[in-house]
Amino acid sequence: MKFNTRAIHAGQKPEETTGAVMPPIFQTSTYAQQAPNVHKGYDYARVGNPTRTALEHLIAGLEEATSCACFSSGVGAIDAIIKTLKPGDHVLSTNDLYGGSYRLFTSVFEPYGIEFSFVDMTDLQQVERSIKTNTKLLWIETPTNPLLRIIDIQEIAELSTQRGILSAVDNTFASPYLQQPLLLGADIVMHSTTKYLGGHSDVIGGAVASNNEEFMEKIRFQVKTSGAVPGPMDCYLTLRGIKTLHVRMERSVENAKVIAGFLDDHPLVEHVHYPGLQNHPQFELAARQMKDSGAMISFSLKDNTTERAFQVMSATNVFTLAESLGGVESLISHPASMTHGSIPKEIREKAGLSDSLIRLSVGIEDVEDLIADLDLALSN
Ligand SMILES: *Cc1c(COP(=O)(O)O)cnc(C)c1O
Repeated sequence: MKFNTRAIHAGQKPEETTGAVMPPIFQTSTYAQQAPNVHKGYDYARVGNPTRTALEHLIAGLEEATSCACFSSGVGAIDAIIKTLKPGDHVLSTNDLYGGSYRLFTSVFEPYGIEFSFVDMTDLQQVERSIKTNTKLLWIETPTNPLLRIIDIQEIAELSTQRGILSAVDNTFASPYLQQPLLLGADIVMHSTTKYLGGHSDVIGGAVASNNEEFMEKIRFQVKTSGAVPGPMDCYLTLRGIKTLHVRMERSVENAKVIAGFLDDHPLVEHVHYPGLQNHPQFELAARQMKDSGAMISFSLKDNTTERAFQVMSATNVFTLAESLGGVESLISHPASMTHGSIPKEIREKAGLSDSLIRLSVGIEDVEDLIADLDLALSN
């Protein structure tokens, strides 16, 4: 089956007792057993729930993975992945990544003895040089957040395979509609389903998918043992959201392309970061690796100050000033003080994340209204 069909049908079948087309919300904590440990596949809802199973099968189908495990949040999913490592292990990560991942790595896991380094993963030689004897995991995020750089998943996955290291891709920004890391050779794919997969800004969730069953066994052990599991209602909402993923993505990307062009021509805008613009440093890689150029845009202002960025952001009416991304509504945010506030200023600026940088998550409104909104905000 092709992608759009899978988004609706992968791993889904009408519920057995009633024929319900959508999986019911199995709001239960436990399941009756016929005799001790004789049951219908479910014993206790921390370990498993049929609504969650339906969602896991759907996401596995989209990422073309043999299995998937869902979590109560994206960071819960990342937490479970890192907990498969041991003290003394080293993780090599991209230096331009989600602020919450950076905080989890450095504030929670570093004190427990897991080592992290952050490098520019668009430079394969730098990645190669930074691999240590104790490196166990390469952590990739592409397009990167918020600078929309593109990391070559296939190259990094080949390198990690040669060195016997696992590679994991945070695929939140692209969604499986635009990019399927496992097909490019990565071992693990992770999502904050809060974003494009859920798609309606009404639920928090995370997912890990892989074809490596030995690894997935460790992840399922984490689900059962650490317990960051999503509730059935949240699974249902995410599942319902995914069924329109392809339609939402198509429209968001179409809008984003027009907006990126508008900003690129705007006299008060210094630079637009968007993989679909010809001036993007990895325009060709993006075209090869992704089905299309995405719906996230960031841009800096000629007046490179936080004050000016704040003025612009508080003047929009259609774009809502908020963290997060990937919903049907367009959002505007200030990475330096919001999503990336936990990254020290020197590190931030070294990575190119300037004070005036504004990030847009482009939704599915009429693009004329979105452009008029930005035009007014920029000229205010
Ligand atoms: C939001 C986000 C996360 C964290 O997910 P939550 O669902 O908020 O816990 C991780 N990675 C990326 C790229 C994100 O955008």
